This record gives sequence, C-alpha cells and structure tokens, in this order.
Amino acid sequence: MLTIKNATKSFGTKKVLDQVSYDFPTGEITVILGPSGGGKTTLLRCISGLENFDSGELLLDNENLTKKKKTDRERSVGVVFQDFQLFPHLNVLENIILAPTMVLKQSKEEAKEKAQELLKLLGLENKEDAYPYELSGGQKQRVAIARALAMGPRVLCYDEPTSALDPDLSGNVAEMILNLKSPNVTQIVVTHDPVFAEKIADQTIRVESV
Ligand code: ATP
Repeated sequence: MLTIKNATKSFGTKKVLDQVSYDFPTGEITVILGPSGGGKTTLLRCISGLENFDSGELLLDNENLTKKKKTDRERSVGVVFQDFQLFPHLNVLENIILAPTMVLKQSKEEAKEKAQELLKLLGLENKEDAYPYELSGGQKQRVAIARALAMGPRVLCYDEPTSALDPDLSGNVAEMILNLKSPNVTQIVVTHDPVFAEKIADQTIRVESV
C-alpha cells in the first residue's frame, strides 16, 4: 500500500495541496480526477520524487519514501509522462536500457534481454532500433511504459495518458493499463477523462482546488 498522510504542498504563497491523505492499494489502479489546477500533477510529481511535499508523509508498505536515496526511489516509483520524454538521440532499446544499466548496474546483455521481453509484451518487438521521431504517439507511449517497467517499479504513475493521443486510442490505452495490472504493482493514473477513468479505475480519488 502506498499511503499519503496529511501532505501539504505550496508554490510560493500558493497552497496547492492542503493536508491531503490518500491510500493507494497494492495491485490496484487508482485514478486521480479533479479540476484543472487542482494539483493532480503536483501530487503525482511528489509521489514520484520529482517534487517533495512540504510536510506530511509518503509511505510505501510503511517505509518512508522521502527518506530513501534518490536511486532507490527511482527504482520504486516509475512515471510515464504526458509527453513521454523519450531521449530523442537514443533508439528504443537504448531508451529502455539506459536506467537499468546506469542506475541498477545491470549488464547490457541482461538489460537488453529484459527490454526485449517488455517490447514483446507491449507489441513493439520490431521497433527496437527505431528512433522516437519514427514512432507514432501511441508507440512512443508504449516505449515510455516499457522504460518505466524496466526498472521493476512497485508504483507506476501515468500523467494524463490519453491527452497527447488521438481520442480513438483512449480505449487502447485503457486496455494496456488493465493488461499491466499485477498483484505487486500499484498503478496511479491522472486524467481529465471520466469515461477513460471509469474503464480502468478500481478506486477514484478527487483532488479539489484549495
Ligand atoms: P491540469 O489538470 O490543468 O493539468 P493539475 O490538477 O494537474 O492541472 P497542477 O499542474 O498540479 O494541477 O497545478 C496546480 C497548481 O500549482 C496550479 O495553480 C499551478 O499553476 C501551480 N504550479 C504547479 N507547478 C508549479 C511550479 N513549479 N511553480 C509554481 N506553481 C506551480
């Protein structure tokens, strides 16, 4: 279980999250809904370690994530960004194996084998030599998911996974996220789209404007 207790976050004088507490059960998909500017992305960034709460606790199975080393935290929590953030000068395989070899110190061979398994799982086995500019939006997203999964995360966060894609693809994204459901991985999805949310959510939380 990932737990947020009494968390607060401000930017300057603007309070974005005010004493919020949420539980994200292991193995489940939690969808975060709420108004624009309500703090959904900020919550995700604080969970993933790109930002930190000003106060409050962030616990993963009762372990305090904020006190962990940056690399341990990167290992525990993966993020699939709205604009995917693939490295443009690296091909698909290189994008996926970079962090496992640099951060987890896996051998290139081991990381490559795992990456190829993930590409197969995500239906991209023939794309390992392609560069990001040669891929469609949906394919880039699947590479970004493979890259996050290559670190073996316990928590996988998606920021607005349908927003950069053709609306027709939203059903495919839902199916992919549901396929990735596993008893050990907690998935957290920020979205504006209530129809998409309904398809995937085990639980929905609303972040309100402060
Ligand atoms: P949207 O649905 O429009 O993406 P959101 O719910 O994800 O919105 P956030 O992006 O978390 O909202 O932003 C919440 C508030 O915090 C906004 O008012 C935003 O302007 C402010 N904010 C976010 N990041 C920063 C930052 N780095 N510096 C200053 N203010 C910020």
